[in-house]
Amino acid sequence: MEPVQFRSTNNKSSIVSLKEALLTGQAPDKGLYMPTSFPKFSQEELTSLKKMPYWEVAFTVINKFASTVISEERIRSICEEIYDFEVPLEHVKANLFVLRLDRGPTASFKDFAAKMMGKLIGFFAQEMEGNLTILTATSGDTGSAIANAFYGLSKIKIVVLFPIDEVSIRQRKQMTTLGKNVTTIAINGKFDDCQAIVKQAFSDPAVKSIRLSSANSINVGRLLPQICYYVYSFVQVSRNNDPIVFAVPSGNFGNLMGGLIAREMGVPISRFVVATNTNDEVPRFFDSGIYEKVSPSRVCLSNAMNVGHPSNLARLVDLYGGRMDETGKLLKPPDMGKIKRDLFAISIDDELTKKTIYEAYKTDKIILEPHGAVAWAGLKRLLETGEVGPTTPAISVSTAHPAKFPEQIKSILKIDPSPPPCLEGIEDRSESFLTMSSNYEEFREWLANR
Ligand SMILES: *Cc1c(COP(=O)(O)O)cnc(C)c1O
Repeated sequence: MEPVQFRSTNNKSSIVSLKEALLTGQAPDKGLYMPTSFPKFSQEELTSLKKMPYWEVAFTVINKFASTVISEERIRSICEEIYDFEVPLEHVKANLFVLRLDRGPTASFKDFAAKMMGKLIGFFAQEMEGNLTILTATSGDTGSAIANAFYGLSKIKIVVLFPIDEVSIRQRKQMTTLGKNVTTIAINGKFDDCQAIVKQAFSDPAVKSIRLSSANSINVGRLLPQICYYVYSFVQVSRNNDPIVFAVPSGNFGNLMGGLIAREMGVPISRFVVATNTNDEVPRFFDSGIYEKVSPSRVCLSNAMNVGHPSNLARLVDLYGGRMDETGKLLKPPDMGKIKRDLFAISIDDELTKKTIYEAYKTDKIILEPHGAVAWAGLKRLLETGEVGPTTPAISVSTAHPAKFPEQIKSILKIDPSPPPCLEGIEDRSESFLTMSSNYEEFREWLANR
């Protein structure tokens, strides 16, 4: 098998192995790493996946990318260990399904990717001298998923910065109650301040002796695992491998990229609903061919999607033959005709999000949280156009557990969603975290003397 390597979307850096792409995150030319080729699934192989548990499908996908740098047995045992939770595919009615990616250790879909990246980076860290420090800023879900994924791994330290007043108590406790190799720091400032501190640390010569790695959403270690659930759910609902539709709630577009790569690998997907909240820069871009960021980003109920310039957009543009640099400048337009045929992009506002949560519960007896509701609303819009026949199965991707948003669900549905085991009793656990100002010097002082 031809080894899959990785090239930069900016085309100015050399081609690297999966190991290097994982450990560096971003290419030196500030582009994003893309696979040099896409391994393919034959129709027979897809059919053979139908009876497999989730972890085995994940193994089959990851192995196609990683087998030249990690042994097959190792990848298999990693998948079996980390994907020990349910991946429910809920049949709603007729040909409509909801894929619930909310049963991982921190109850958002970020767990699928963070867990795998933790294991892969952890594996390569064992071959290196000294410790590796994973430094990350979070607005909520990412920090807990990352902390959880790297928790307890030897030779790895995790430092998570979060804005003191911008995360919910549940989100905070998911990070601050771990201890061991996880240090959490509350920054007296906004998410942007946390991100600025992280960025500065990466380019600060004063802390150069500390091996830092980021675990942000552009790392290929997060992209590859997000292919697997598209393959898994496709084989569950498709008859004779006929094409299906996916609806994806999108912010940084990493989740959608996983789906697009699954399609490149031969999974028959006729259409993606690309659903955003009112941070609508991408639907407008597909409509007009002109790309304009939303700045500052708009605050919406689906807070993990409050993104005014998606970090994975350069990958999507690249996949469709265009080029976008790290600042969001379009250097070469992608094939807009093909984008419009493949992707149905739509922006859903908070009012429709709430109405969708209400109606889905009343008429279809399903509980959706704001992110999943944005996808479901987008899918309904596509179905209203009549462009998708009634026999085509459609899967709406639900990315967080409703119990992560108890106040919102209570106010809309008048019910209290019961928490999954990972969130049970979390309020009562004791926590510890440091508090710092948004001044970089204070953080540097701490990092250097740790
Ligand atoms: C991160 C996140 C999203 C957005 O996913 P992207 O890959 O950034 O598009 C959607 N829903 C939830 C719950 C998330 O945490």
